[in-house]
Amino acid sequence: MMRADLNYEDLLAIVDDLDVVKYARTRNFIDGSVTYLSPYISRGIISTKQIYTRLRQRGIAAKDMEMFLKELLWRDYFQRLGQTRVAEWNTECLDHFPECLVNATTGIKAVDEGISVLRETGYMHNHLRMYLASIILNVAKHPYNAPAKWLYYHLLDADFASNTASWLWVNGYRGKKKYWVNQENINHYTNSKQSNSFLDKSYEELPEAPTPKHLERLVDLQLETNLPESEVLNFDQTKEVLIYTPYNLDPNWHLDESFNRVLWLSPNYFKHWPMSDKTIQFILLNALRIKGLQVFVGELEELRQIIPTAKLRMKEHPLFHFKEIVYEERDWIVPSLQGEFPSFFNYWNKASKAIYGDEK
Ligand SMILES: Cc1cc2nc3c(=O)[nH]c(=O)nc-3n(C[C@H](O)[C@H](O)[C@H](O)COP(=O)(O)OP(=O)(O)OC[C@H]3O[C@@H](n4cnc5c(N)ncnc54)[C@H](O)[C@@H]3O)c2cc1C
Repeated sequence: MMRADLNYEDLLAIVDDLDVVKYARTRNFIDGSVTYLSPYISRGIISTKQIYTRLRQRGIAAKDMEMFLKELLWRDYFQRLGQTRVAEWNTECLDHFPECLVNATTGIKAVDEGISVLRETGYMHNHLRMYLASIILNVAKHPYNAPAKWLYYHLLDADFASNTASWLWVNGYRGKKKYWVNQENINHYTNSKQSNSFLDKSYEELPEAPTPKHLERLVDLQLETNLPESEVLNFDQTKEVLIYTPYNLDPNWHLDESFNRVLWLSPNYFKHWPMSDKTIQFILLNALRIKGLQVFVGELEELRQIIPTAKLRMKEHPLFHFKEIVYEERDWIVPSLQGEFPSFFNYWNKASKAIYGDEK
């Protein structure tokens, strides 16, 4: 079950308890043994590298956790893609959304139930995300931008790169095949028994079938972000400032070193990338666990007026790129793999060579 109140020690305990064999066997089932770590990874609280290293320290060889390692590397692969595609993917938030998404009325029971669970918990299983995206993009033929923003809005693990790249992947990114799903597959992985739905067809029939009318309707909706009040900031002007963002809430960042620490919530940023109240609460809960951290709501120029001369430091992220800031590298499982790769398969081949080479 998804828990939104875990601290760093709890996350390590999840990694220590992870049964990588059971994970590989069950991860595709909606009640399978997945980790629910993604909100903590996306918010920068724990990294893929820390998780992988911890598993290796438990004596698990990379080959024996290949399925799990691949999933962690999917994440790193998408993060690299996000770095190179930022100009193309960093788009305005639109205000027309498929009605079936917003009202959980696709007519596929497991998916509608998944949307309701998402709204309650901020989490949706990977397979349900794929089903949902396939219905919206391939059956209903909506463009990906607005539905992707809607999903991002509700996810605690909302991630610019993983989310955008996954929607594009389902849509058949760069000439690849589109991802189609039928009712039989959904019934198998969600333990449901629905029949006679618009997906109750063979994979040959699906692309030829007419779009059900109820999937085509749009609704107008403003995705609002409710930010907290800014604190009255109290800085030591002689010290550097570590700037935390919704993508970096690392509780161990320069731990025990003396810095000003500020969580920067930019209203302009949230106009492009709105987040639900649940996600904002999740960010604040984790930020306020960082000792000495103050919350600043405003734009960079305003922060600069409060602290005009101190050096500002951030962890690298493509959505937060400003000239005057000093950037530190994020964690990667294979840091030498940089830039864009033609496919995950290509990335995996290179990554596994580096990883298995290290293991010998
Ligand atoms: C349409 C769509 C939208 C998505 N949007 C997001 C998003 O905004 N943020 C996000 O973090 N993930 C996103 N994903 C990827 C994936 O669904 C989630 O990372 C996964 O469901 C997280 O659950 P978990 O931590 O229990 O995963 P586990 O199965 O326990 O996997 C462990 C970790 O591996 C990584 N991982 C697992 N599956 C994938 C995957 N398919 N792609 C990339 N990384 C993966 C995640 O970091 C995850 O925490 C999306 C997938 C789809 C199909």
